[in-house]
Amino acid sequence: MQKSTNSLTSRKQKILEIERQRKCLIRFLLSDCEVIEGSFIDVKVRCGRSGCHCENEPLHPVTRLSWWDNGKLKNKIIRVADRVWVKKLSDNYKKHRQAMRDLVRLNEKEKEIIKSVVKLKTRKYE
Ligand SMILES: [Zn+2]
Repeated sequence: MQKSTNSLTSRKQKILEIERQRKCLIRFLLSDCEVIEGSFIDVKVRCGRSGCHCENEPLHPVTRLSWWDNGKLKNKIIRVADRVWVKKLSDNYKKHRQAMRDLVRLNEKEKEIIKSVVKLKTRKYE
């Protein structure tokens, strides 16, 4: 009996820890922190001016934002003046995606622990 009480206690502590982590994730996900969907990609392109060195090999660095839209990969070149804030919001997007994955993982973990708690609490009527 003592043994099962101990494991119940440790399971309950694990649940409390998961709840703390979940609260933190939800606070982040519901914050006013803005996001831009898509990832930042640095590429080199040709400028099209005749006589430019880039005629042989793409040389000019541009930054693109690319994202999936209905199964299609979309791209947009980011103006130099916008690079900093777009990068920040694109990074925020990545953090949100990660936080949502973490939330799913926590929910799964919690479900398993709760299942084992219920099992430990289960009495048999004989
Ligand atoms: Zn060029």
